[in-house]
Amino acid sequence: MLINKERLMERLNTLAEYGKNVHGGMDRPFGSEADINARKWLIYLWGKQLNFKVKIDAIGNLWAGLAGTENLPALVLGSHHDTVANGGKYDGALGVILATEVLNIIKENNYKLRHPLKLVSFTAEEPNMFNLSTLGSRVASGKLIKDDIKGAKGDYGITLGEALKKVGGSIENLQDAKISKEDMSAFIECHIEQGRRLFDKNLSLAVVPKVTGIYREKVKIIGEPNHAGTTVMSCRHDALIAASQLCLEFEKIIKDIHRDDVVGTVGHIEVKPNSINIIPGEVDTILEFRTPDFNDVEIIYANINNAISFIENKRGVKIISETMLKQREVIMDKAIISTLKRAMTKMDETNIELVSMAGHDAVHMSSLTKTAMLFVASVNGKSHCADEFTEEMDIIKAANVLLETILILDKELD
Ligand SMILES: [Zn+2]
Repeated sequence: MLINKERLMERLNTLAEYGKNVHGGMDRPFGSEADINARKWLIYLWGKQLNFKVKIDAIGNLWAGLAGTENLPALVLGSHHDTVANGGKYDGALGVILATEVLNIIKENNYKLRHPLKLVSFTAEEPNMFNLSTLGSRVASGKLIKDDIKGAKGDYGITLGEALKKVGGSIENLQDAKISKEDMSAFIECHIEQGRRLFDKNLSLAVVPKVTGIYREKVKIIGEPNHAGTTVMSCRHDALIAASQLCLEFEKIIKDIHRDDVVGTVGHIEVKPNSINIIPGEVDTILEFRTPDFNDVEIIYANINNAISFIENKRGVKIISETMLKQREVIMDKAIISTLKRAMTKMDETNIELVSMAGHDAVHMSSLTKTAMLFVASVNGKSHCADEFTEEMDIIKAANVLLETILILDKELD
């Protein structure tokens, strides 16, 4: 049994028609017309063309499934079909279309699985107008409940409840979207790597052992606003110069860990009063770093605090820092990882492990069931942009590895 390449690529291209923009990128955020039309197409494909059992849950997650011959919890494949603004056609969509093909080929061959096999496309994985990313998987795993999100409002005052209604969900019955641990025996998300590690090694696929931890520190630097002309250089307490020094120190702290899977970014900065002839009096910024190893975190924090004290003394400013996010790394399931590797070996594929440096729905599913991820190479490491591209050859390999993994898990898992 091997997957059908033409059909798979055609569906990937069809899904990419929903939300395609004039720059060659994709605009398909949650709640948009493109999202709604893509959903309609997926439901039609699964329900009418392929005769899968289809369900839309209360948070709008789209489910399709095949029955199993035994009364066992389901094997589940999936990802998301929404995109960032001017994103690419592979991020999320690839995992949904690959899952569709795996179910399709199993049904077409009349192959009887012991487990039910399901596929899911999660709602609103990407940032969206409600400021709630990985929304579908967080609700499904019980990490978000109705009271947490019922007040969320998006563009033009639309409520989350109204947006959910449009896609067949229901904020009132949100608790029904929660999956119980007994309902699933495994979850696998296939996703593009979104970085260039596979591409640089000239490899197609990788298994993900961990999803990185993410840490965000909100930093306020208080200096002294004053006249830009009449204040001599030695009398200044410039908050922006202090912040700039902190940015450079932060870069050095992260680089000093000397690993590719430890990264730091200062992506947000606000300067007050932000005026051409006033020395900046205050700066608000956020230092973000990611590492898959919790041992690094203490070292990085200690070094940030040292840098803060040094800059405070040197520049006569006050620096207040507050932790916004401390999300530890998530470890994927060893048994599913080894099954993915066996499937790769069977297909003569080199198997390597790569930490995921981005968050995914799989993170939340891992609190419910044995979870793992399969990465497919991104050409030139591009993602979240119109140039996002993955080779057809690599997509086909991923599909066959997923299929083989499901066949093995069906035999071996209970
Ligand atoms: Zn994604």
